Amino acid sequence: MATPSGQNAGMSGRFAPSPTGELHLGNLRTALVAWLAARSAGRGFLVRMEDLDRVTSSPEHERRQLDDLAALGLDWDGEVLRQSDRFELYRREIERLRIDGRVYECFCTRREIRAEIDAAAHAPHVHLPDGAYPGTCRDLTADERAEHIASGRRPAMRLRAGGEVLEFDDLVHGHMDGVVDDVVLARADGVPAYNLAVVVDDAAQGVTQVCRGDDLLTSTPRQILLQRLLGLATPQYLHVPLVLGADGQRLAKRHGAVTLADLRAQGSSAAEVVSVLARSLGLANPGEIVTADVLVERFEPECLPRTPAHLADLYPTTL
Ligand code: GLU
Repeated sequence: MATPSGQNAGMSGRFAPSPTGELHLGNLRTALVAWLAARSAGRGFLVRMEDLDRVTSSPEHERRQLDDLAALGLDWDGEVLRQSDRFELYRREIERLRIDGRVYECFCTRREIRAEIDAAAHAPHVHLPDGAYPGTCRDLTADERAEHIASGRRPAMRLRAGGEVLEFDDLVHGHMDGVVDDVVLARADGVPAYNLAVVVDDAAQGVTQVCRGDDLLTSTPRQILLQRLLGLATPQYLHVPLVLGADGQRLAKRHGAVTLADLRAQGSSAAEVVSVLARSLGLANPGEIVTADVLVERFEPECLPRTPAHLADLYPTTL
């Protein structure tokens, strides 16, 4: 199938971090799973930098993230793709959706959306994902739009999703479904949005398996709808349960020594970190030191844990 960038579709898995900070153990664990899922099936493995947000992304973070992947023995094929190089392509795809009547302008601020969601909290409504856009600007008249523009507001572009319910099978979580909300396609400052960019890039790069943290499970129906509207194939999905800190929240810097650099500073080698991650995935025995290469033979997606991991079980002493 022809892809938006004209590249050849291959058979690849990928890891697509945002270079907005250092990778923590949860990110590294997901990267390990993504790499193992690809390599154990003889697939290519791609790395894509999701640096859409030019304010929070930095080349320094990108370099450190790539160094960490390499240190863990996770190699990738070809050049690292950067979303910041591809804004024109995303805008063309949004234009295709607009021509199909699937895009509308949204002038709401975050605060207005929040207020509207709170006000509607007790009203009966179709079940939408948390924080779903309530549709305020979906059917504005030309006069109302002109008024917003005259008042100096610039619109974001939203998908007219039509409240569709999308189903998919996840290799870890099984059969899933979700209502698609009117997701943002481009922000008010013109920056293309994550869900649109990810769908365009996965197709352009020939990604046939998307492996990522399961905090993105709720985004998957949105992405599948976008794939259908843009005539793109739907990849296989594998959402890896997150690593949680002692407070039960997803891992973050505040939980202490959670990056490869932190752990190295405490005397752990990269091989030890791979082994700890492997153990948390049921791929190595306590005390066993393994390399990523060795794990390729052992990896079976069906055997992955279906519940979150806890930092305290991975590294009791870092807490
Ligand atoms: N860039 C996203 C993140 O770092 C991941 C997106 C994806 O894998 O689809 O959370």
